[in-house]
Amino acid sequence: MRRTKLIATLGPASAGPEILDELIASGLNVARLNTSHAEKDTLARQLAGVREAADRAGRHVGVMLDLGGPKLRLGEVASGTVLEPEAAFELRAEPGPGDASGASVSYAGLAADLTPGDRVMIDDGRIELRVTGTAPGLVQTLVRAAGPLSSRKGVNVPGVRLGLSGTTDRDMSCLAWALEAGVDMVAQSFVRSAEDVERLREAMGERAVPIIAKIEKHEAMEDLDGIVEAADAVMVARGDLGVELALEQVPAIQRRIVAACRAAGKPVVVATQMLESMTTARRPTRAEASDVANAIFDNVDAVMLSGETAVGAHPAHTLMTMDRIVRAAEEVAVEHAWKPRPGASNDIAAAVSRAVCELADSLDIAAIVTATQSGATARAVAAHRPQVPVLAAAASEAVARRLTLVWGVRPWVVKPYATIDEMVDSAGAAAKASGLARSGELVAVTGGVAINVSGSTDLIQVHRV
Ligand code: PEP
Repeated sequence: MRRTKLIATLGPASAGPEILDELIASGLNVARLNTSHAEKDTLARQLAGVREAADRAGRHVGVMLDLGGPKLRLGEVASGTVLEPEAAFELRAEPGPGDASGASVSYAGLAADLTPGDRVMIDDGRIELRVTGTAPGLVQTLVRAAGPLSSRKGVNVPGVRLGLSGTTDRDMSCLAWALEAGVDMVAQSFVRSAEDVERLREAMGERAVPIIAKIEKHEAMEDLDGIVEAADAVMVARGDLGVELALEQVPAIQRRIVAACRAAGKPVVVATQMLESMTTARRPTRAEASDVANAIFDNVDAVMLSGETAVGAHPAHTLMTMDRIVRAAEEVAVEHAWKPRPGASNDIAAAVSRAVCELADSLDIAAIVTATQSGATARAVAAHRPQVPVLAAAASEAVARRLTLVWGVRPWVVKPYATIDEMVDSAGAAAKASGLARSGELVAVTGGVAINVSGSTDLIQVHRV
């Protein structure tokens, strides 16, 4: 069983039942719906399509809604516009048509936040401007890196604190739709602090689903531990990160974020340009294969494809290629991964989660089966990266789907049980039905004496299937 999870972003190249069937057959664990590039009717079609395809395949596939957040964008620009080196270029608050003299930008307060000397990066840094002056609603710049400019390109201002709210009206409207429609997790873009995450959780109210905080702003690195603590999982969003911060810092920042998540036992995703050349090519570069494998060697929970599956020429083949690279890397990595994380000594559920991994290390156990109400025990066990698979015997489909992101966890839904004996029997039956254990093999079952109570994990039983 592959332990690291695969996330693929849906888009025009991955629309329709056949391609969704192919993606699931190629190993898809989580489908990412991107609100930056799709309206609600498209998102609804994507969600329904994933649910139907997962049902056809008899698999749990999670759906992650990625809220675009306060991404700055240019307005309309005349086609054929090219910026020349050292030319003057204006960024205007007033909406209107743009050309080589200037264009509007989606944030009216930009002029107030910038000072002369600041850099403005457009289109993933392909165009670089240097601020020469500001006036109300107007930023004057000089073109430092020139090239073609087109409508709606992203705008980044490295090192500048913008006076923007962490979520937009559009985010809130997409979120309300998504919670009603039943997405399994929400990714939050441009998180700057733990408060941004807490505010989103508050906005979700009683319907809250796990939040994946995307780290792509320089401010986020200043509150990394707070964000890791506040979020349910973290994504290294290398696309914007590589423009907001110096490109050469991205690899070291990726290591720092992964280490912080691993230390805290929080799931971590590495994203963006992992197999970028496969957007058009049938084979990745050796460097891309190494990038994916290195994420596995760092023990991340999931790796993600973006444009490769959203607009690429061969989405399923790309996912299959990623699956092969991950499996090959895991053959080396999983053997060396097992390392019980030190834990808070007075947390019973945490201590039991750690102990079951140690037990699985010293007994010939086929799988660890966690009887889990909210998914927390399965996550806590997986955080230790045990050598054997973790079967999450979950109380509901919704909990099972939330676990699709977590390293080493195979979600499985079991019927309600009323006693500990029934719980252990149900865990053993699930291990057998899932194919993770055969008759006569041992499994280590964790659960709680307080049956069906979330967070009550306090027992381990070794059970012969
Ligand atoms: C990123 O910037 O790397 C990312 C994952 O976010 P988005 O695709 O929304 O730009």
